[in-house]
Amino acid sequence: MAIERTFSIIKPDAVRRNLIGKILTKFEDAGLRPIALKKIHMTRAQAEGFYAVHKDRPFFGELVEQMIASPVVVQVLEGEGAILKNRDVMGATNPANAAEGTIRKEFALSIGENSVHGSDAPETAAQEIKFFFNDDELVG
Ligand code: ADP
Ligand code: MG
Repeated sequence: MAIERTFSIIKPDAVRRNLIGKILTKFEDAGLRPIALKKIHMTRAQAEGFYAVHKDRPFFGELVEQMIASPVVVQVLEGEGAILKNRDVMGATNPANAAEGTIRKEFALSIGENSVHGSDAPETAAQEIKFFFNDDELVG
């Protein structure tokens, strides 16, 4: 399988509960390497732009409020089949449906406050990495 890069966010609900390290450990144990990461407090414009694909969904307003409520960690994960692997480690969107051992099963509070974001395909991964990182920040 090819080495890929994907984009990940440790969301406000998890950062607030001091779970950055526990979540990074899940990624690292699965063979995903954080090649760039930073803690930021997203602006409303950033959150609305990042989640523009969901702008007509009923939960959009709540999602934006949750994402800007407090800081997040944005990161680029690299590894074999990183895009799908990240989604596997994250677990299902709704923690009630997430498999044992996944981040969302262990840490998510609800379908909205579900602790992590992860790109869903090669195109979105490339787009989302560019949204938050310059090329010179991807240090390997
Ligand atoms: P994922 O993050 O698993 O890719 P989606 O792309 O479908 O899920 O949704 C983006 C985010 O919007 C979710 O992670 C979650 O925070 C929020 N969300 C999705 N569906 C709902 C819902 N039914 N109610 C509240 N929030 C939701
Ligand atoms: Mg998604």
